Amino acid sequence: MSPTLPASARVAVIGGGVLGLSVACHLIWAGIRDVVVIERQTPASGATARAAALLTRARPHALERALVRATYAALDRLMADPDAPALDVHRVGAVHLSADPATVAALTARLQAGAREGDPVRALDEATVRALVPWLDPGPADLIALSQGDAYLDPYALAQAYGAAARRGGARIIPDTEVLAVRRSRSGAVTGLETSRGGIDCRTVVLSAGAWSSPLAAAAGLGLAQAPVRSLYWITAPDPALGGHHPLVVMPDAGAYARPELGGLLFGVREAVSRVADPRALPSDLSGFSFGGDPDAWDDLLEAAPRLLPYWPGLPRAALAHAITGPSAYTADGRFLVGPVASVPGLVVATGCCGAGIAASGGIGQSVAALIAGTPLSWDPAPLSPTRFGRVDPFDPALWETCARVRAGKRTG
Ligand SMILES: Cc1cc2nc3c(=O)[nH]c(=O)nc-3n(C[C@H](O)[C@H](O)[C@H](O)COP(=O)(O)OP(=O)(O)OC[C@H]3O[C@@H](n4cnc5c(N)ncnc54)[C@H](O)[C@@H]3O)c2cc1C
Repeated sequence: MSPTLPASARVAVIGGGVLGLSVACHLIWAGIRDVVVIERQTPASGATARAAALLTRARPHALERALVRATYAALDRLMADPDAPALDVHRVGAVHLSADPATVAALTARLQAGAREGDPVRALDEATVRALVPWLDPGPADLIALSQGDAYLDPYALAQAYGAAARRGGARIIPDTEVLAVRRSRSGAVTGLETSRGGIDCRTVVLSAGAWSSPLAAAAGLGLAQAPVRSLYWITAPDPALGGHHPLVVMPDAGAYARPELGGLLFGVREAVSRVADPRALPSDLSGFSFGGDPDAWDDLLEAAPRLLPYWPGLPRAALAHAITGPSAYTADGRFLVGPVASVPGLVVATGCCGAGIAASGGIGQSVAALIAGTPLSWDPAPLSPTRFGRVDPFDPALWETCARVRAGKRTG
């Protein structure tokens, strides 16, 4: 049975994915304890449970690099708590490699910028990378660099760790309860939530319902420039030649990444044409949802294979055991949606994660908590304002296609 729904809260968070739970955790850390998280299913059962969870630091913008760095700081804080659930963080580093001159230049710039900000990087020669990652052929690459502090983890465990820290500080996390609407006063300000189990009075609402956020936002008068775009990866059967302890591998020329998983290799590709769904049609239970057929995405793997083969010549012999797909909330410019909404006082948005919501979860949670608590931040999240696109029709198929193209064109991260 679900815990009792409180009649009121200082802050109500919609959605118990990694972002909603990180927001709740950071609110507690900021001293705001009367927090309730409303989750329609069970916590972390949405996109979060499906993530590959690479926490890559090499991002084009200083702001996003700061948000990822804040996630690493949050991990340290969560792991330092003796009462916290175990969190297995694989600090293996990330090998980035490319042969394309424009990509080499862009990657070099962002790795060097990260290094100046405190993320250590070192160049690798071909022999070293072959020894580190036996299945990888670095032959074609002109740039091979190791971002030394990168890691991967179990995204479900991270979300649970944020949730446990929030609960220990007094936050209430209520599953099996759907938010039906954000209640507003006649002047437009937030007054609470309407849920499937009754109302909650509340002056501050954080909208972190992931790829499901658009209909709720639209009903509150806000058009979000995001859409549910399919992300995908595969996991091979256990294989000593592929698995083991090795760094993340990011191959922008192939639009691909890989990391160890379950004794085999987890690898993802960015397909030439990404699939996108109508946000109103995304089911609350994702099991069985396939973005219109080809649930194992074999066609996309066949299309991407020629790009991946130069780096992974053994791909045709790999025994594929799992195909994982799920919705990522991609935005029209590839940057997150984080911040207040002037036209709806009391509403704060934390979504639009563009396939990087696990990596940036700590920074996004901290940004939202600081905004609500009025505490200082060492970065300015204003460029991520959810209203930066002006008036948006979130149900315009042209917007969905733009968001899908943003994913298909993404090469790193
Ligand atoms: C295949 C795949 C691979 C990925 N790989 C990576 C990666 O390597 N690195 C990385 O950083 N990110 C990755 N991502 C992206 C990452 O998973 C997301 O950015 C992140 O999980 C978003 O978290 P969220 O909390 O916004 O959304 P979600 O985890 O989807 O949470 C939203 C929650 O809101 C709930 N909800 C929705 N509507 C309502 C309502 N009306 N009332 C109550 N609750 C509601 C949902 O049930 C859900 O639990 C990947 C995603 C996919 C699909």
